[in-house]
Amino acid sequence: MHDVWTISETLNGKLKQISFELLARGRKLADDLGVALCSIVIGDGISDEEAQTLAHYGADVVYLANDSGLASFECTRYANVLLSLIETHKPEVILAGATSSGRTLMPYVGIKAHAGLTADCTELAIDEKTKNLLQTRPAIGGNIMATIITPNHRPQMATVRPRSTKILEPDYGRKAVIQYVKYPDKVSVSTISVTGIRPFEGQQSSIDEAEIIVSGGKGLKKKDNVGLIEELAAVLGGEVGATRDAVDRGWISYPHQVGLSGKTVSPKLYLAVGISGAIQHLAGIKTSECIVAINNDEQAHILGLADFAIIGDLFDVVPELTRQLEKRNNA
Ligand SMILES: Cc1cc2nc3c(=O)[nH]c(=O)nc-3n(C[C@H](O)[C@H](O)[C@H](O)COP(=O)(O)OP(=O)(O)OC[C@H]3O[C@@H](n4cnc5c(N)ncnc54)[C@H](O)[C@@H]3O)c2cc1C
Repeated sequence: MHDVWTISETLNGKLKQISFELLARGRKLADDLGVALCSIVIGDGISDEEAQTLAHYGADVVYLANDSGLASFECTRYANVLLSLIETHKPEVILAGATSSGRTLMPYVGIKAHAGLTADCTELAIDEKTKNLLQTRPAIGGNIMATIITPNHRPQMATVRPRSTKILEPDYGRKAVIQYVKYPDKVSVSTISVTGIRPFEGQQSSIDEAEIIVSGGKGLKKKDNVGLIEELAAVLGGEVGATRDAVDRGWISYPHQVGLSGKTVSPKLYLAVGISGAIQHLAGIKTSECIVAINNDEQAHILGLADFAIIGDLFDVVPELTRQLEKRNNA
């Protein structure tokens, strides 16, 4: 049986949070298979010390490919490195983030490696009998959970949404074996040349990192009322989120959308204002620590998942809550 791999991601030489989340998923699979957990790091200027932090969160081996040609993500080059590693080591399982780079890289690698790929998995497990990877994800518009297996091809590949996994408690005593990957010649073969990188200048949203999110849904009735949740988010020091219905109506921009076709979030506090709790919305908030719903319908689906609920008209509840919190902040 070969090893379980995770694809780490870096920015300016530093590992991103998703790298550690994937290790939490991978550790369990590697233990169940009785194999090593390896993490692949492709980039530039990544120090051994930085690579060793992967060991603290579960990695046994780190394959480190450092090169100036790999400084920024470019699908063909990254895929060439990964494919040459796959050819040599023949991993059993590869997990990557369902991030923009993971979603670009993994389908390309899947085709080239003649392997399958299950995107956006919410659960991953090893079948006790067959040792196949059970890849579970929402299907048919999120209305059912489908478990997919890849019995005839290796590696078995899956992507996992950022913020859908809690990272493991660090063990600072753990050390990984670092294997330095030789920059293969074929890496430079690419039809794309990167001429520069510019930061995104549009409307920003950092809901994926936020500890407090106040989300609004169709219950807000119109765009002018979005100010109500913006004010509440501001007094709480949080960010604004939205349902797809609120986004589709043009009340709030897409980067704020939470759910199956938006972002998965994991805040300490998630306030759902005028949100019914459709399955596709709940798919994005399940790992929140505390969910508070404000809704005038005591039968609303969201109440099944919420830790607390305020049953009432949001147009009364939200301004009053904002006032009370402001008072507390100024006390
Ligand atoms: C493939 C697919 C992907 C999808 N992806 C997503 C996704 O990523 N994210 C997402 O959110 N949805 C997604 N959806 C849409 C989803 O199915 C729902 O349509 C949507 O989440 C409903 O949004 P809502 O809760 O704002 O609206 P509604 O379901 O209309 O709920 C409005 C709520 O507001 C309450 N309300 C009304 N007035 C007041 C008031 N005055 N005071 C208090 N409460 C009030 C109502 O009781 C109700 O519970 C997806 C659907 C599909 C098919």
